[in-house]
Amino acid sequence: GMPPVVDHPRLTVIGTGYLGATHAVSMAVLGYEVLGVDVDPAKVEALVAGRVPFHEPGLPEQLAEALASGRLRFTSSLREAAEFGDVHFVCVGTPQQRGSHAADLAYVDSAFRELASHIDRRALVVGKSTVPVGTAERLAALVAEVAPAGAEVEVAWNPEFLREGYAVQDTLHPDRLVFGVRSAWAEAQLRAAFRPILDEGTPLVVADLPTAELVKVAANSFLATKISFINAMAEVCEAAGADVSVLASALSHDTRIGGRFLKPGLGFGGGCLPKDIRAFSARAQELGVGQAVRFLDEVDAINLRRRQRTVDLVTEMAGGSVAGKRIAALGAAFKPNSDDIRDAPALDVARMLDEAGAVVTVYDPEAMANAARSYPTLRYAESLTAAVIDADVVVLLTEWEQFRTVDPHDLGALVHHRRIVDGRHALDADAYRAAGWELRALGRPTAS
Ligand code: NAD
Repeated sequence: GMPPVVDHPRLTVIGTGYLGATHAVSMAVLGYEVLGVDVDPAKVEALVAGRVPFHEPGLPEQLAEALASGRLRFTSSLREAAEFGDVHFVCVGTPQQRGSHAADLAYVDSAFRELASHIDRRALVVGKSTVPVGTAERLAALVAEVAPAGAEVEVAWNPEFLREGYAVQDTLHPDRLVFGVRSAWAEAQLRAAFRPILDEGTPLVVADLPTAELVKVAANSFLATKISFINAMAEVCEAAGADVSVLASALSHDTRIGGRFLKPGLGFGGGCLPKDIRAFSARAQELGVGQAVRFLDEVDAINLRRRQRTVDLVTEMAGGSVAGKRIAALGAAFKPNSDDIRDAPALDVARMLDEAGAVVTVYDPEAMANAARSYPTLRYAESLTAAVIDADVVVLLTEWEQFRTVDPHDLGALVHHRRIVDGRHALDADAYRAAGWELRALGRPTAS
């Protein structure tokens, strides 16, 4: 018969970054005993002290609650995790490899290898990281090889779909759960680990390992394609004198298309979409089906061209050259409600303007420390007001609420020239023009 299922399993979360910290905290809030593990001692120290080492709305409160319950602890010892856990969730990073489009699996491999080498009992090791299809089966073989004799370890995959900025909500109330499993026991053990979420009626898809891995990259590929589709239309609109925001609005009324992720602008970035579509394309080539997803290379190229186009609009507004011009860059994070600057379009644009000789001053409500660490040559202002003082051109790069709701008259009183590029279609163009601003937006005709 089936091996015993632990009804209320003890959980570990290996890798407590954006994904892992949120998962560990949420599972403890749901009532599980959770041990979080990270190789970065600074991260462990912060979490133990009740500090979330990144910006995620609602997470600090949930961390405090989880710590107070006594159900959540952190360690840097994978040996301790191996002894503690019935179910282990591996949430380490899978960044793009240097000099290649493929994913760097060194962190995943080493986490699985070290954890499994210490497991001396029955346990389920569940990957949550986004990986190239085929990784889970390879790791299952690795685990079987390194686990001590007598250990009963199985590998499963549970891809994660949370959005930064809504991470807690998405973890507690996901659109669906996907379990990639090799046995009825693994499925039953995972059901026990997600009982409160499943009891809410959350849809569950049970799949084999490669299908579960593919669900994640397919979802991100679809979303990236939708964004680049409307941005490709923006390029055509620019050449044809048409207005992509009106086009997008008309398309979005078609219920087969829908309006979400159909917003033209500076395009996608962050620690997921760009590297995931590149890794997918690289993996498909290895599998001999590169042609099937070749469009993803185009999706990537369309996306990157928006950054250059934004620089071009700023340059046009500055009178043909930005050299020596004061540019206020509003936003650094790859999207609002996050301090994540991985592959951030905003900072890419700021960097290009800086390299073209502009005097670029950046302001972001949350991402300043991360930005200053990665782009030390840019200038940083303490506030929106300080960033725009005497600006020749203002460029909106991340659509934070604070930027969308600022009064164009107030802003106009601070700048040298009332010229603004709306890189996110986030501003009320009529209100800006009424306040004496010249406003340009990607894919929209210049107003007379
Ligand atoms: P991150 O860089 O914020 O976190 C990864 C953490 O893993 C780091 O804290 C690192 O110190 C730790 N780590 C590395 N090696 C380790 C080891 N051997 N043992 C223990 N800890 C180790 O990355 P992230 O954004 O949380 O992403 C993690 C994975 O989740 C990636 O595969 C990503 O694609 C995927 N994912 C991320 C999101 C998101 O919104 N950030 C959403 C869905 C999926």
